[in-house]
Amino acid sequence: MEKHISVCPYCGSGCKFNLLVENDKVVGVEPLNGVTNQGELCLKGWYGFDFINDTKILTPRLKQPMLRERRDQPFRAVSWDEAISYTAKRLSEIKAKHGPDSIMMTGSSRGTGNESNYVAQKFARAVIGTNNIDCCARVCHGPSVAGLMVTLGNGAMSNSICEIENTDCILCFGYNAADSHPIVARRIIKAKEKGAKIIVCDPRYIETARIADQWLQLKNGSNMALVNAFANVLINEGLYDRAYVARNTEGFDEYKKIVAKYTPEYVEEITGLKASEIREAMRTYAKAKTATILWGMGVTQWGQAVDVVKGLSGLALLTGNLGKPNVGVGPVRGQNNVQGACDMGALPNVFPGYQPVADAAARDKFAKAWGVPSLPEKVGMAITDVPHAAEEGKLKCMYIFGEDPAQTEPDLDTVRKGFEALDFIIVQDIFMTKTAMFADVVLPATSWGEHDGVFSSADRGFQRFYKAVNAKGDVKHDWEIHGLIATAMGYPMKYTSTEEIWNELISLCPIYKGATYEKLAGLGYVQWPCPDVEHPGTPWLYEGNQFQTKSGKGLLFAAEWRPPLEKVDAEYPLGLCTVREVGHYSCRSMTGNCNALATLADEPGYVTINPKDAAEVGVKDQELVWVQSRRGKVIARASVTERTNVGAVYMTYQWWIGACNELTVHHVDPISKTPEYKFSAVRLETI
Ligand code: SF4
Repeated sequence: MEKHISVCPYCGSGCKFNLLVENDKVVGVEPLNGVTNQGELCLKGWYGFDFINDTKILTPRLKQPMLRERRDQPFRAVSWDEAISYTAKRLSEIKAKHGPDSIMMTGSSRGTGNESNYVAQKFARAVIGTNNIDCCARVCHGPSVAGLMVTLGNGAMSNSICEIENTDCILCFGYNAADSHPIVARRIIKAKEKGAKIIVCDPRYIETARIADQWLQLKNGSNMALVNAFANVLINEGLYDRAYVARNTEGFDEYKKIVAKYTPEYVEEITGLKASEIREAMRTYAKAKTATILWGMGVTQWGQAVDVVKGLSGLALLTGNLGKPNVGVGPVRGQNNVQGACDMGALPNVFPGYQPVADAAARDKFAKAWGVPSLPEKVGMAITDVPHAAEEGKLKCMYIFGEDPAQTEPDLDTVRKGFEALDFIIVQDIFMTKTAMFADVVLPATSWGEHDGVFSSADRGFQRFYKAVNAKGDVKHDWEIHGLIATAMGYPMKYTSTEEIWNELISLCPIYKGATYEKLAGLGYVQWPCPDVEHPGTPWLYEGNQFQTKSGKGLLFAAEWRPPLEKVDAEYPLGLCTVREVGHYSCRSMTGNCNALATLADEPGYVTINPKDAAEVGVKDQELVWVQSRRGKVIARASVTERTNVGAVYMTYQWWIGACNELTVHHVDPISKTPEYKFSAVRLETI
């Protein structure tokens, strides 16, 4: 049996294992002693490999290019030559007629390596001439990046996943670790076993709440009020580190003024919490020798998410929990390489290595390296802008690579109308996704397991993964496909290996320069910044409390609380919050095609509801129900449970039948443009 080192393609924990191969087929996995997983895996790691083998449970693997000249025609299989020349011709025509900004691209976070994301954004900027490239960070941790960039100067986790178990206090805010990052949840359990205090802020009785010292069951949509009240307690009870604040922060006076109103008593009604609970939580957090804050989509998928992220970093700044081991701020990235897609510049405002497109020196550097006279300065479009830009005629073409927005974006009817308004859609994927049904050209790519590359874990750790089996069918690597289209458009792009791409990108990014393929070989793990080959990488940012803001100080920030944008009323009395199913990943195209995982849950997905609300609607456990919002209506199976709070219902977004994004609202945070997936007004009806 052959063994090939790999990194799990599912979440940002970055677990390392061997793929076991017999007769050119992946037959199992064997956990490795990786830095973040230390020989452990969750069920997705153990059982999530066999989609590579084309199980055809949900959908078959794509095996040859397809195109159609008109959308009312069926797809026809074509040669790569025809697919590439047709795609290049259509892209060139659209660019010439409507300008480069009429074309939008995506990066990919789903098992796609950093090298492919680098090439995709290079294609957008150097070949098309636009910064219109975005990735799924927009709909998950975009607010973390936007918020932390302002307050601390860097949008990533400040510390490392492996440090979590040595922390004395862990504040889990809107973060369901057990379902989203099971190996991080293991670290939280280990910390608890070592005596750490665990505080959970979540409206649902999530798994981590079961081991928590304190569970703060706040009302949906009250995050900002609670974070302000936390700051209020720290200041008014003198629990903050005065010397640290004076030395290392700015903005304290204004911050203090804003949070003054948010006494624990004032926010009782907004949050549904007792003032005493809020005080107790902050006393525990402030008195711990080391404390960390971990957060997930429960913080970021709100219309005020950026403000809340800034507020959470303020708690760490007030208490001096930054710049050293076992403390920090932890936006734990969801998809396995969403950190990497951002690191590689698959974002509309930055080149690889977070070098702003607005910076003339950065533009000149990349233009020179890529052999083009100039690069666009204008910040590109966010993926959540697409439906409206398409309907307004500003956007004519989308090149979607390894994403499935027709399943994962909010308000799917608006998304579909946007796609229908586009002149040309290219989908590059390993499966015939829902989005691919709207395409004019479908380009089949190799899967994780069939190519080499580097992933970034949620804690900025670069790790290599290796090809284990040969791809079956007439498929190509993502970076090869982008290169062939670029070449056909008159921009020769002929890489021969991922190492060649990696060497080019690290040479252009000072913070990655020392993370060579050689250092990353085998079980190698290097956290950026890593400025030279002698540098070991950076387990914790802000060492010595050197923040990467203009002033070098951390910014204390508070904002007035705003309620959710959509309102419940007599017609739509419940707040729908989207969540995830532990056995499935993203749009389910990969895990839905894995034998063991596909049996874990069945369509339609569940809508969980508190027994009190269920009784009012007359819904019984396991009954099929309609869930209806102001935008659509889907069937789901009711799961009546005390773990769900009164007034709210929860649905996982992975199901085709019962797709909750038919219901979600397209309101976004004004800064990050991240949708408010966590609150859409709905009602339930029996069938
Ligand atoms: Fe590790 Fe996440 Fe994969 Fe589970 S899904 S094995 S926690 S990387």
